Amino acid sequence: MTITIGGAVAGCSIESMSYKFGGFHDNCLEYEVVTAKGDVLKCTPDNENQLMFHMMHGTFGTLGIITLLKFRLITAKPFVKVTYEKYKSLEEYKIAIWVHYRSKDIDFMDGIIHSPVEYVLSAGNFVDKAPYTHSYDWTRIYFLSTAKRGEDYLKTSDYFFRYNKGVTNVHPKSFICRLLFGRFINSNSTLKMAKTFRKVIPSTIIPITVDTFIPFSKMEEFMEWYEKEVNHFPLWCVPYRIVHKYEWLSDEFLSKVNDELFLDIALYGMRRKDAEHYYKSIEKKLAELGAIKTLISTNLYSEKEFWKIWNKKNYNLVKQKTDPDNIFGGLYEKTCST
Ligand SMILES: Cc1cc2nc3c(=O)[nH]c(=O)nc-3n(C[C@H](O)[C@H](O)[C@H](O)COP(=O)(O)OP(=O)(O)OC[C@H]3O[C@@H](n4cnc5c(N)ncnc54)[C@H](O)[C@@H]3O)c2cc1C
Repeated sequence: MTITIGGAVAGCSIESMSYKFGGFHDNCLEYEVVTAKGDVLKCTPDNENQLMFHMMHGTFGTLGIITLLKFRLITAKPFVKVTYEKYKSLEEYKIAIWVHYRSKDIDFMDGIIHSPVEYVLSAGNFVDKAPYTHSYDWTRIYFLSTAKRGEDYLKTSDYFFRYNKGVTNVHPKSFICRLLFGRFINSNSTLKMAKTFRKVIPSTIIPITVDTFIPFSKMEEFMEWYEKEVNHFPLWCVPYRIVHKYEWLSDEFLSKVNDELFLDIALYGMRRKDAEHYYKSIEKKLAELGAIKTLISTNLYSEKEFWKIWNKKNYNLVKQKTDPDNIFGGLYEKTCST
């Protein structure tokens, strides 16, 4: 797997413990940041560099480079037991998510929305023993198993790598190709190929990828719109607790945030002719709902729209200190015009 801990902060990583702990950055205690001038700064949530500490998240290396970080750990066990709770409606799904969210009775929670009438919530717990284990590193496809199985046991390391061939956009696609090459094709090799052939791959064959964060109370409205306007399934669903009012979001955006829980609804691998139309209309709907997306794929915001969501004042305050000559480039330029 290619994700580094610095990249996880800079690029907004979350996972199935996010319903309790927020994003990876929410569990960090200290960053060492190298500025464009080569200064090495220690940033914590309460020292003189506290704004820099908070702003490192999601700014894609445009404020400085994290060279060291301290983060919280929890005690793990050797196996994870996952129970697949099946629901036929969004209403039932939301109730189940809310019950787990309030009672914090499970270690991990994410899910797959296979269709508008097939919702799977994957409720995971660390366990000491397992009657059997499955891994998803060869011919098996994890997201499909969530629809077929009632429960599953994975070694803890396999649980963390369960989506390593793609979450819902799995490669290789065919069983025969997975049988022959599946052992060798994973996120590392796919990304390496994409990087190598980047210049010759036509942008029209790159599938649409969007990672949204929808306020829990706005899910019905979002899904109703989504079914009508986009209608691509499956979707990955990761409940995410807003740990505090984030400094990287604008005051205007934050003034509309009333939910403590958001759902990260991620759409991968959608092939449509008019990609720009879909990116644009999703951005527009998110703005209407007080929802947001991570900036990991194509972003078509105008500069004005962008800074209505992200916090320009805080960004510039840190930028002046760490990169006054703009050596690392600006966040808007890096994420919206490349
Ligand atoms: C196969 C795969 C699976 C994924 N699964 C998940 C998932 O389950 N959950 C999730 O939330 N996200 C997921 N992502 C998205 C991922 O979290 C982000 O893309 C993350 O930023 C990748 O980190 P990286 O180390 O690969 O960074 P890179 O892709 O190398 O860089 C990402 C950005 O961060 C900047 N950056 C990198 N390192 C640093 C640093 N040390 N200091 C400052 N800036 C830096 C880079 O300049 C760049 O702009 C996945 C991505 C991939 C490719």
